[in-house]
Amino acid sequence: MKTLHMPVEIGRANQHDVRIRWQDGHESVYPARELRMSCPCAGCVDEMTGAIRLIGSSVPQDVRPLAVELVGRYALTVHWSDGHHTGIYSFELLRKLCPCCRGVAGRSAV
Ligand SMILES: [Zn+2]
Ligand SMILES: [Zn+2]
Repeated sequence: MKTLHMPVEIGRANQHDVRIRWQDGHESVYPARELRMSCPCAGCVDEMTGAIRLIGSSVPQDVRPLAVELVGRYALTVHWSDGHHTGIYSFELLRKLCPCCRGVAGRSAV
């Protein structure tokens, strides 16, 4: 069984970026728009195919998180300034999305 990635601190890096400090000491900073575009909810991603439905031009360039809330012990949800708030970002997903880790251990090993 692999270790689950758990955040010890969730906050903002600045007005736009979300910052997570992980149990293993790693720190991730997610640019707001990139995180918004990675929203895993059924409205943004096709549940059957996994294809991204979200159209980039429909998300404001200056989208920002208004609030970040924990969902149980495994995920968090973000209330975005464009009114979207149905995405549940599991910690596993967030760790995969970490901008500085992507391509190293992430799924995009292309
Ligand atoms: Zn969504
Ligand atoms: Zn990283």
